[in-house]
Amino acid sequence: MSRIPQSTLSLQANFAADLPELSIPWQAEETPEPRLLVINEPLAADLGLDPEWLRCQDGVGFLTGNRVPEGAAPVAQAYAGHQFGSYVPRLGDGRALLLGEITDPAGQRRDIHLKGSGRTPFARGGDGRAVVGPMLREYLVSEAMHGLGIPTTRSLAVAATGRTVLREEGAMRGAVLTRVASSHLRVGSFQYARNHEDPAVLRRLADQAVALHHPAAAQDENPSLSLLRGVIRAQAGLVAQWLLVGFVHGVMNTDNMTISGETIDYGPCAFMDAFDRNAVYSSIDTGGRYAYGNQPAVAQWNLARFAEALLPLLDEDEDRAVALATEALGEFPRAFGTAFSTGMRAKLGLPADSPDETVGRLIDDLLALLHQDHVDYTQLFRRLGQAARGDLGPVRDVFTDRPSLDSWLERWQSFSPDPEAMDRANPVYIPRNHLVEEALEAASADDMAPLHRLLEAVSDPFRERPGLERYAEAPPEDFGRYRTYCGT
Ligand code: AMP
Ligand code: MG
Repeated sequence: MSRIPQSTLSLQANFAADLPELSIPWQAEETPEPRLLVINEPLAADLGLDPEWLRCQDGVGFLTGNRVPEGAAPVAQAYAGHQFGSYVPRLGDGRALLLGEITDPAGQRRDIHLKGSGRTPFARGGDGRAVVGPMLREYLVSEAMHGLGIPTTRSLAVAATGRTVLREEGAMRGAVLTRVASSHLRVGSFQYARNHEDPAVLRRLADQAVALHHPAAAQDENPSLSLLRGVIRAQAGLVAQWLLVGFVHGVMNTDNMTISGETIDYGPCAFMDAFDRNAVYSSIDTGGRYAYGNQPAVAQWNLARFAEALLPLLDEDEDRAVALATEALGEFPRAFGTAFSTGMRAKLGLPADSPDETVGRLIDDLLALLHQDHVDYTQLFRRLGQAARGDLGPVRDVFTDRPSLDSWLERWQSFSPDPEAMDRANPVYIPRNHLVEEALEAASADDMAPLHRLLEAVSDPFRERPGLERYAEAPPEDFGRYRTYCGT
């Protein structure tokens, strides 16, 4: 394989060099006929990459892992994880690779990662491949999350490989997603390191996590405890943001929870249309473990697994370490509650200093009404924005329990909600399930126009634009119950 000269593109290999115990040097499977399906030009520019170059043969070779920059050392990363509550000591990148880290023009370090790049030593029974539909789905939803201002991994490109991949549904087109993230360190990385025979591995991993994501912690008396606290805060804030936009991640295993606080691994995720605390979309989540309303509790459970992995670093004395971890974990409910109610205040246009208790009751009562009447969650807040401008019709239209709604509206209006602030906090466009399916179906027939149009809507979700009306609509009645599948 000829290498890309460093003058064109340079990647560092810090993770591979610092944590060889968590890395297996590996290379991508050759793609017989790579073809770029979608490329994220604004992100390419942020990374200091030339979109024209990325579109050419060498660039596509880079995006699929077939041409690697000189000096880069791609690796499959090792990690463990609790999947639906059961511990798997060795998961790792079965079909993914960390190509290396790029330093963007702003000086920020970011991982360039591939998904669907072929079998690795972690592949177990899997074929190491990914197919076009789920990779485009990750591209679309992660970019929508970014548009919403929610921390997330990004998607740089999806390329079809030219390979046919067999799945239960039949023969599918293979694809590689090029993903960008501030790191791929996960709770599962720490679980794996904790079990390593050499205790120095865990220490080195924690040092890297501190340096990358919580640099201020390096100066603290107990940097590992500060790291734990920082991750708890970041994840509490993240899950609050998911709930505020109606997002259901769908597979919150500990290997899918980052240390950075970015959303990662868009498999069976979905945005809800009608509000439902128990919303579950994933076909394999039969017990509802990862239901919409369970996400804060699951995050806290995952963070407890993170804390357990960190115990030897928290204090030499085990009892002391457990006490410190328990105390830190106890901060989660408050951190989540504060982030959620701050976000809800913004969504409802309420002054930041409105009393907690009154606002808490207002939120609970509204959500109860939404749940009862299966009201479209995203539309509701824009309708409330109209109500704040004096037009109560649109919001009253969608409730059957009018007396309860009217008394709620009266309480809410006593705060003089600010409609402009509400428009800034409440998206018009989310990647609704029926729209995502429509775009992916067209893409499977080689028509990329619907995907681009949907991307245009969801990349700038707060600004209502003429011509995009159908992207703000609830699903047609015959769309039925939505099911998602783990994106393999
Ligand atoms: P995920 O559900 O995508 O987070 O993946 C869970 C684990 O399964 C990770 O270790 C993946 O690398 C692995 N995996 C998923 N799909 C495949 C596949 N097609 N081939 C090999 N490994 C896979
Ligand atoms: Mg994963």
